[in-house]
Amino acid sequence: MAIVEPLAETADGHRRLRLHSPVDRHSLGEIAVSTKSDVEGALERARAAQPAWAALPVRERAGIVRRAIDVLVARREEIVETIRDETGKPRAEALAIEIVPSCDFLNHWSKRAPGDLKDGRRRTHGYIRPMKKLYVHHQPLGVVGVITPWNAPFVLSLNPVAQALLAGNSVVLKPSEVTPRSGEWAVRVLHEAGVPEDVLQVVHGDGSTGAALVEGTVDKVCFTGSVATGRSIATACARRLIPCTLELGGKDAMIVCADADLERAAAGAVYLSMFNTGQVCLSVERIYVVDSVADEFIRLVQEKAQAVTYGEGDHDMGPLFSDRQPDIVNRHLADARKKGATVTVGGVQAGGEGLYFQPTVVVDATHEMDLMREETFGPVAAIMRVADEDEAIRWANDSEYGLGGSVFTRDGAKARRIAAKLKTGSVVQNDAAVIYGVAEAPFGGRKNSGVGRVNGTDSLLGFTHVQPVLLSRGRSRKESLWYPYTA
Ligand code: NAD
Repeated sequence: MAIVEPLAETADGHRRLRLHSPVDRHSLGEIAVSTKSDVEGALERARAAQPAWAALPVRERAGIVRRAIDVLVARREEIVETIRDETGKPRAEALAIEIVPSCDFLNHWSKRAPGDLKDGRRRTHGYIRPMKKLYVHHQPLGVVGVITPWNAPFVLSLNPVAQALLAGNSVVLKPSEVTPRSGEWAVRVLHEAGVPEDVLQVVHGDGSTGAALVEGTVDKVCFTGSVATGRSIATACARRLIPCTLELGGKDAMIVCADADLERAAAGAVYLSMFNTGQVCLSVERIYVVDSVADEFIRLVQEKAQAVTYGEGDHDMGPLFSDRQPDIVNRHLADARKKGATVTVGGVQAGGEGLYFQPTVVVDATHEMDLMREETFGPVAAIMRVADEDEAIRWANDSEYGLGGSVFTRDGAKARRIAAKLKTGSVVQNDAAVIYGVAEAPFGGRKNSGVGRVNGTDSLLGFTHVQPVLLSRGRSRKESLWYPYTA
């Protein structure tokens, strides 16, 4: 039985989807798929409601978004319960990956927005300076479509939605069909904090609903998900000449230098490749360890991976969340075995109805293997020995992805030198995925990992038209460039 099971259409022409728990496949109920005309209706209401929302002073919008923190804190147990129903992730992970960063984002953006979005005068230089004054205005784009995935369904919905609203836009969100109710909570907390219903709406369904939103009258699309979907969204946006930000897949490399704290590096390798059951765009998916410390590092990784517990309830690791994932992980492991790698820990899908997979360690991985080239999105630490750091950098860059990367070394200057050579959107020393939660960091991908930034001031300003306004006093008749040239 699929996690998302298509059902027959209802009399009013709505397709329905039945959701099943990835823990034991019990039914979680049904959702009605929004039709093209539902999406068009939502966009019309959003368009009509946007001017009044944009007319509020930014401070007032920021106050509403800030109030959402109180709502979120008050409702956190219900939100965690929904996330756990739909994904099976452990409570600690629902709190650490979804709830805590969400509060942080709401706090950050509501504090930053009044300053970052303030219209104001800018300094000018050169000949123009004595005659003209430059101002910059930040105008909302209008209606923003936000489309999100299933792996961190609450925070990945709430973060872009909050930014778009603060900038004065109205928003239509389409969360993943695998985790619709977790995504819907991002809308509910903001409604309960005071965002008007039509300013923020949710539509449900699979790719067809997402496509209807992109093909509708949106002024920008903010997408998080797979490369294939990102490409089709970018194509649709190009046809309409509207901007999109694309946060796509990753194949992040971790480089373990000879001077690394091996205990920390091994603990990091296990946690960062297996948290959220390895289903994080910024998961460590490839590990390059310098030969001189490889034996000890691999021994420690194996020891720590064997200690990772999984299953229902209070364990370290929950199930995979989507039907597609076990097949991908199994295919990558079979291909790696065939091409000479050794699975030294785990490697087997647990039996039963749930989508559990053993914590897995693979050694002697190479770039001939799908495991080192395609996104695995499973609890697998894939390790390759390298002669030195230069070789590690070469292999790390040998990827169509370029989202994040990490360097384990005690030397900060070395970490920065290596970072400068990595073709990735971000780099972290002695840690990894945490960078997404740093709201100030302009996080985003290179190569197939995406276009644009989802955090940092660039991201917030990306939800506006930045309009320069040049004022001339209009008193002087002597404009240096006006006719006649003879003068
Ligand atoms: P997906 O691309 O299958 O789906 C993402 C969303 O797009 C869903 O809501 C889906 O219904 C919708 N969609 C599907 N087809 C569409 C279409 N043609 N037009 C419009 N919308 C459409 O991705 P997924 O499987 O839900 O998520 C996993 C992927 O997301 C992984 O590749 C992961 O790395 C990536 N991801 C990236 C980031 C990041 O910040 N870079 C974060 C989380 C996940």
